[in-house]
Amino acid sequence: MTDVPRPALSVVAPCFNEEGVLPEFLRRVGLVLDGIAGSSEIVLVDDGSRDGTWRILADAAVTDKRVVAVRLMRNHGHQLALTAGLSICRGERILIIDADLQDPPELLPDMMALMDQGADVVYGQRRQREGETLFKRASAAVFYRLIGRMTDVEIPRDAGDFRLITRHVLDILVAMPERHRFIRGMVAWIGGRQVPFAYDRKPRPAGESKYPLRKMMRFAVDAITAFSIVPLMAAMTIGWIMAAVGFAFFVYSIVGWWFRETLPGWASIMAALGLLGGMQFLMLGIIGAYLGRLYDQSKGRPLFMIRDIVGGGS
Ligand code: UDP
Ligand code: MG
Repeated sequence: MTDVPRPALSVVAPCFNEEGVLPEFLRRVGLVLDGIAGSSEIVLVDDGSRDGTWRILADAAVTDKRVVAVRLMRNHGHQLALTAGLSICRGERILIIDADLQDPPELLPDMMALMDQGADVVYGQRRQREGETLFKRASAAVFYRLIGRMTDVEIPRDAGDFRLITRHVLDILVAMPERHRFIRGMVAWIGGRQVPFAYDRKPRPAGESKYPLRKMMRFAVDAITAFSIVPLMAAMTIGWIMAAVGFAFFVYSIVGWWFRETLPGWASIMAALGLLGGMQFLMLGIIGAYLGRLYDQSKGRPLFMIRDIVGGGS
């Protein structure tokens, strides 16, 4: 394994019930790769498809030496299917692309040129999303803005997984042991020189989106919980507010008692309620804070990632 030279480029695409687009995808990617210097491979992962996807992939692997067809045991979902392809691919540079031709493979030479100028990641940023429903575009807009506010990582807006990354970035990505993988966020988190590349997202030529609302929601929850412990800390904020309200009632009941203006018992009960409720939420918040730390720790991400070392006989 180790003495086989790496191909210069790997194209990695997850495929789930994509028999309608795959022949065209293979043709167009093949043409693009013909025009590129250096060797290449196309790693296609069949994510437990129920249509003719696997037959097309397996045939392609026989007729085209560049094609590596991988078949998962069952449907694992987009991000894990992609992870499987990324762990298997061997190229020096890796193009992540959807199999449905929404991201045009013809943009590869321009992305390569940006990487020649020193980028570690060239990510596609959608200028336009043709042929997608208003709901899809609106939910995507809300999602990217929400996650932008809740996390410290700069996760680029309106960028999918369509991107070209270096082997160095890929090795770090694959080594990250977390189980819930929000790949575009993880790549952003890795850092390095990340360069946007504006493009128009095309409509699907065939088939339909494999992201129904249910999967989209799960994707959003994965994304937020993988990159933010803000929800866990929310109890803390609520606790401070309730404690403040309780304290205000407490002061009010003392003052009222002094001037004998309140219903007997009312203000003091409200004060006790507010203070107790506040304490409870604060305690929950504290538990949340520790749980959040524990969660961060359990993700086992690297503490730092070195880009270069110069000197010291390296
Ligand atoms: N996909 C997958 N497994 C799934 C769902 C989707 O491998 O469970 C693949 C799909 O074949 C496509 C890519 O992930 O290549 C993106 O999916 P889709 O086009 O349905 O998402 P959308 O573009 O609508 O967000
Ligand atoms: Mg798509």
